[in-house]
Amino acid sequence: MQEIDGSYGAIGGPKEVTVIGAGIAGLVAAYELERLGHHVQVIEASHEIGGRIHTHRFSSGDRAGPFAELGAMRIPAGHRLTMHYIAELGLQNQVREFRTLFSDAAAYLPSSSGYLRVRDAHETLVNDFTASLPNRHYRENTLLFGAWLDASIRAIAPRQFYDELHNEIDVELLNLLDHIDLTPYRCGSAGNRMDLHSFFADHPQVRSFCPPRLERFLDDVLDETSSAIVRLRKGMDALPRRVASRIRGEISTGQEVVGIDVRDDAVTLRIRQGVRTLAKTCDYVVCTIPFTVLRRMQLTGFDQNKLDIVHQTKYWAATKIAFHCREAFWEKDGISGGASFTGGHVRQTYYPPADGDPALGAVLLASYSIGPDADALSRLSEAERNAVITRELSVMHPELRRPGMVLGVAGRAWGLRRWSWGAATVRWGQEAALREAERREAARPQKGLFFAGEHCSSKPAWIEGAIESAIDAAHEIQWHEPRATRVFAATRPSRSEESA
Ligand SMILES: Cc1cc2nc3c(=O)[nH]c(=O)nc-3n(C[C@H](O)[C@H](O)[C@H](O)COP(=O)(O)OP(=O)(O)OC[C@H]3O[C@@H](n4cnc5c(N)ncnc54)[C@H](O)[C@@H]3O)c2cc1C
Repeated sequence: MQEIDGSYGAIGGPKEVTVIGAGIAGLVAAYELERLGHHVQVIEASHEIGGRIHTHRFSSGDRAGPFAELGAMRIPAGHRLTMHYIAELGLQNQVREFRTLFSDAAAYLPSSSGYLRVRDAHETLVNDFTASLPNRHYRENTLLFGAWLDASIRAIAPRQFYDELHNEIDVELLNLLDHIDLTPYRCGSAGNRMDLHSFFADHPQVRSFCPPRLERFLDDVLDETSSAIVRLRKGMDALPRRVASRIRGEISTGQEVVGIDVRDDAVTLRIRQGVRTLAKTCDYVVCTIPFTVLRRMQLTGFDQNKLDIVHQTKYWAATKIAFHCREAFWEKDGISGGASFTGGHVRQTYYPPADGDPALGAVLLASYSIGPDADALSRLSEAERNAVITRELSVMHPELRRPGMVLGVAGRAWGLRRWSWGAATVRWGQEAALREAERREAARPQKGLFFAGEHCSSKPAWIEGAIESAIDAAHEIQWHEPRATRVFAATRPSRSEESA
């Protein structure tokens, strides 16, 4: 029979768990472990919590100005776990619709004839799309569908990935679409767009006719262009802050883990605190730091397969640049929200809602790029980057050139950030079985060292994935039989000792 001592059914009673990283995975793991009756301490390298959920607040004199989401900004409503925590933590009243790419008919997208409004783009998009096909004898609806699918992929994928995918909306898929009545899926006020979401929801079997790489990328295309996406009105950082406020154990910032040594009886962390490095010996550790960071530190006692996955997991960069503008000038241009696909180095431009006092200005998320596009931007100096973005974006929005229009700029190149060295894991190119094998290996513990974070989940690159992995890790620890702890505990030296 299991020993039950304080924690609900935990084998071996309450455990002492050190969590590395105060991103959403670390915080949820700590919160869930405490709920199961365990004792936690969270160690965070930076001076902030939230990790890749990062809300930047511009200030206007001594008043707090509008904010920009430089990390995660939206939650697909179908992300059950994330929505569950939002409700459980009392944030439901902050949930608002997130308006995404192409949701505003007045937003722009590039074409062979320059920037077009979404509402006027169909003819050019269809002509451009048709010109790229070997056989052009498809029904009007089929071509309209293909043109909007292609435009959505182009807006979401990094350029290089799109170039590879572009030819994959192939003949087999179009032939099949030609036999389906697509009229019910025409949407937009003039019926000149296609509702891809409703179509794929009603015809899931069509996905199997998509070329494999397109099929695997489709979820992201549908998630990111869905009308069922939400945001938090006062900023996404409310989520990690609210979880943190519910954790009783200590959350220490400014403590960088620089080495991990796994032994049979314990896990020793080397932690840099200012100029000192301490060794902390722990029974259990949940490591949520990205593998990009982990592979730069000294790791001992890991098995070879684990080291391989730590070193080989692929991450993509992301760069976001936000302009604090004197006013929401795009509203005068008829754009009430959503996003334009700008292309070039800028890639995507979002118009976040200006909920606050208009006297404090408005935020334009001028540029959001991922993958090689983000790498290219991050290689530029800050001044060069801002100049490139302004130059490209002012073709579409010449108001940016007006003196005094841009009051401030804030950006984050996640590929260069010391605590992430990337934005997220990407597994787009992989078969489902390989993706799952990689996920399992990423999450597989090393004795008392457990793993969580978006990279260990079935929903990488989303908050949902980070939360899923955190819950899994908390439950694995709950059911883990204390190992050699029983044998070695008596002989172990003091739990924290200073080293060189
Ligand atoms: C630009 C961008 C846009 C995104 N957009 C969305 C979106 O719209 N919706 C969505 O759901 N998801 C989005 N994501 C993904 C989402 O933000 C992440 O999947 C999620 O926040 C990852 O959480 P995590 O806890 O796994 O990792 P992190 O948030 O990275 O947490 C890891 C923590 O470990 C800390 N750390 C690192 N190294 C050390 C060390 N050596 N010692 C101690 N601590 C350390 C870090 O500082 C960090 O706080 C986006 C991500 C980015 C970058």
